[in-house]
Amino acid sequence: MESIWQDTIDWSPTEEQQLKLHFLYVAVITANQRLNLTRITEPEEFWEKHLWDSIRGVGDLITNPSAMNVVDIGTGAGFPGLPLAIARADWQMTLVDSTAKKIGFIESIAPEIGLANIHPLVSRIEELGQQKEHRHQYDLALVRAVASANICAEYALPLVKIGGTAILYRGNWTEEESESLELAVAKLGGEISKIDRFTTPLSNSIRHCIRIEKTANTHPYYPRAVGIPTLKPI
Ligand code: SAM
Repeated sequence: MESIWQDTIDWSPTEEQQLKLHFLYVAVITANQRLNLTRITEPEEFWEKHLWDSIRGVGDLITNPSAMNVVDIGTGAGFPGLPLAIARADWQMTLVDSTAKKIGFIESIAPEIGLANIHPLVSRIEELGQQKEHRHQYDLALVRAVASANICAEYALPLVKIGGTAILYRGNWTEEESESLELAVAKLGGEISKIDRFTTPLSNSIRHCIRIEKTANTHPYYPRAVGIPTLKPI
């Protein structure tokens, strides 16, 4: 896959990173029977939908020289956070999920893969967003396959500092979704700066990564209490 990485992302893993990505695959597949972590188990599909997709989603940030403090919201078995932690050992990655067994899995494999830059955390995002150790603390917030876009924005933007970025990983994307998200992010102190449309290299599936820049502090009202963003999306 080396040339595909290079051709599509202008980045490719070193031998050590390749080995770590392979260990990650083996660890997920091994634990999957017990923990039911993912439907995607075939090697090529795993590579495309979990490894490549995670890294491609951040676009040119993957080769940006700045080290960043990153939060992966609703990380599940560690996507997109774990492939990015492998690709960028200088990024500090906080991986959050409300399901303890998923975070337990990430905790168990971190030393095996040799990842010193990840910080797994069991929490509801609505609670984290109101804690001062996390609120307005991150350069980059990532959300993949967690909820509809406006809900994801309410989860992500309170965690991002002014000048930082949130990236929503989406599949299909419509003009109506853009209009609705634009109104939501304005309430949360952000602006949509880019809609990055691309297709995946093996199955040609459509992806849109929505980049939101944080322009002002989020009002203390957001995020609302646990469950409210889902019940009444902005
Ligand atoms: N991001 C991963 C991926 O793309 O493979 C996992 C996606 S999985 C479909 C959604 C995850 O979000 C679940 O593990 C769920 O526990 C977590 N989640 C949903 N709402 C959450 C919330 N409010 N706070 C924390 N985690 C949440």
